[in-house]
Amino acid sequence: MKHTKDISSGRKTLYYVGMGMVGIGFILFMSTFVMVIFFDPFSMSYNPMGNAIIGFIMIAIGGFIQQVGARGAAGSGVILDPKKAREDLHPYTSAFGGMVSDVLDEVKDSDRTSQKEVIKIRCPQCSSLNDEDARFCKSCGKML
Ligand SMILES: [Zn+2]
Repeated sequence: MKHTKDISSGRKTLYYVGMGMVGIGFILFMSTFVMVIFFDPFSMSYNPMGNAIIGFIMIAIGGFIQQVGARGAAGSGVILDPKKAREDLHPYTSAFGGMVSDVLDEVKDSDRTSQKEVIKIRCPQCSSLNDEDARFCKSCGKML
């Protein structure tokens, strides 16, 4: 995964904090149902649905924080700035093969470099340039 180093440590921390919140929220959410199954909810001194609601809110907020961490503030729509969004999303999208335009840009770039790097062989007799894989000189016909 190239470009991963472009994601700042702050955003990574945010991502893991969000992940942790989703995890805790999920446990809280699920524990409510486990308790309802194993215990009589009417005999409890508190409403078990409270935990489910807190868990649900934690999953929602945690998921949002995770997204901000992964895509950056602009990339996840917190800051409305398309240019910044593209910058923020670049490490994310290229790591996951995302945005088609970014991928196409990279393909175009690699095409250009490969064309530049085509090796030509100079004919020893007439010194015209031939393709690397050419067996005979295209100008004088001498075997290369
Ligand atoms: Zn030649």
